[in-house]
Amino acid sequence: MIDKISSENKIQTIGIIGGGSAGYFSALFLKKTYPEKEVTLIESSSIPIIGVGEATTPLIMNFLHKTLGYNIQDFFKKTKPTLKLGVKFEFGKTGNYHYNNPFGTYNIYEAMCYNKNINDSNISAMLMSANKSPLIRIKNKITQIKLDKGFAYHIDNELLVKFLKEKLAQSGCIYLDTTIKKAIVVDENKGIETLITNNDCILKYDLYVDCTGFSSLLLGKSLDSKWIDYSSSLKTNRAIIGSRNNENNIKPYTTASTLNHGWLWNTPTQTVDHLGYVFGEEFCSDDEAFSELKKHCTSINNEKVISFKTGRYENSWKGNTIAIGNSFSFIEPIESTGIHMIIFQLKRFVKSLSNNIEIADSRLKYNTKVNKSWDYLKYFIAIHFKYNHKLSTPFWKECQENIDVDEIEDYLDYFMQKGPIHRHPSHPIYSKMNKDIIFGTSAFDINLVGLGVNSEFFENEAKNNLMEKKKWENIYKINQFLVNHAIPHKEALAIIEEEPFNLIENWFETTE
Ligand SMILES: Cc1cc2nc3c(=O)[nH]c(=O)nc-3n(C[C@H](O)[C@H](O)[C@H](O)COP(=O)(O)OP(=O)(O)OC[C@H]3O[C@@H](n4cnc5c(N)ncnc54)[C@H](O)[C@@H]3O)c2cc1C
Repeated sequence: MIDKISSENKIQTIGIIGGGSAGYFSALFLKKTYPEKEVTLIESSSIPIIGVGEATTPLIMNFLHKTLGYNIQDFFKKTKPTLKLGVKFEFGKTGNYHYNNPFGTYNIYEAMCYNKNINDSNISAMLMSANKSPLIRIKNKITQIKLDKGFAYHIDNELLVKFLKEKLAQSGCIYLDTTIKKAIVVDENKGIETLITNNDCILKYDLYVDCTGFSSLLLGKSLDSKWIDYSSSLKTNRAIIGSRNNENNIKPYTTASTLNHGWLWNTPTQTVDHLGYVFGEEFCSDDEAFSELKKHCTSINNEKVISFKTGRYENSWKGNTIAIGNSFSFIEPIESTGIHMIIFQLKRFVKSLSNNIEIADSRLKYNTKVNKSWDYLKYFIAIHFKYNHKLSTPFWKECQENIDVDEIEDYLDYFMQKGPIHRHPSHPIYSKMNKDIIFGTSAFDINLVGLGVNSEFFENEAKNNLMEKKKWENIYKINQFLVNHAIPHKEALAIIEEEPFNLIENWFETTE
């Protein structure tokens, strides 16, 4: 029983159930970390993967190409990704207004006060406006712009899983295609005893990793974990997804546009734009959502409806079982956090196991950190809805008036009175907001500024906190020079696929 073990070395066999992104990432990462352990991935070819999860965050770059060591050109050839520099939000103020939320660190103060344009907050935001890639050509020499947190990918989820499956075959993991009928549990707190397959085979492991997606076969169903609902903060629970030909205009960012009963994502891959209208079923029927979607995207096809609930189970790691991916928690995809949280949890799990402490203590530490991160993520996503005033339909009124942001009221009060907090690291709210969470104060700040909250701040107090105008003008001039020489996105994708670019060298700082 792993309860009595104080070290990762005592876990010899790991069974991962699920063959979506969560299952494959878990198997490949755990095998890479513990090559001496027996790692088995079990998936059921009769239960399809969810097939969405195309927009990512920079965490995936490091994970794929450094941690797992996959060659960039091979990855490009097989999955045909596009580059993502951030999210363009058609949110906030009425009319044609939008703001760019780029990856990286920002100069929101200077962009707002000197340039009167939040979309100049860093080089990525400016590349987004120009529809360019972070590769530049100067005197026929191609090089890459150094971005402090790099960029991410848009990837077709099925191509990604196919790529990972190929890697699994070379990894030394055991692969089983079978359906798990049930798990035998003697004591819920200790976890799973054995798994029984559809053809009555018995499978037994020291550690079980539940990656069964929304069905949460082990953590939710078999271990009867309590569900913690996030619907008081997040009002969407349904999506109509589809795709359309992108007519060669491949954007280097995800777009999130306000619609009547929710919002629409546009995630560009090399050949098609993946689209999804995320809405609340309380506010409109599938037919209404579909006809609104059709008005915005006349050429959409391959539509299907996905329903989801938003929240998490009480703990991701219970007894000898850990749940990763949709089997543990789900928050709607406006900041593309699904794969990000899979990677975060896996790294955190391994870190907890490697501590030389009792496994019960590792479990407690891991669960506390992971739960807190998800709960703050809920608030981070909630502010996008609460402060979006582009429309005042019943859905948006409900979001503006009734979204629960209880635990971050102190931060929001601060922001309303004094503006962004990320330049005040000694403030206690700053420490609280950056302690246990993944998206820290600067991510909260740029979204509130973009949404138009407390815009008076930049007319008045912000001026006391600005970098010298000359210095800013220099930074801005260099950024403009880089944008002018940046290569259009489509051309850059072809270059990366063919040339031995090491896109991640010196680019990425991980948060974990
Ligand atoms: C509308 C929507 C949009 C999203 N957009 C994004 C996004 O842009 N970016 C992002 O990062 N994430 C996004 N996500 C989250 C995304 O779904 C996950 O990040 C990711 O794909 C992980 O899925 P999964 O592996 O947990 O589950 P799944 O892909 O559903 O895989 C479940 C696996 O479990 C197996 N399985 C289930 N039951 C059994 C059984 N009894 N026996 C054996 N095998 C079994 C199935 O065969 C399958 O292989 C989105 C989710 C939704 C709902």
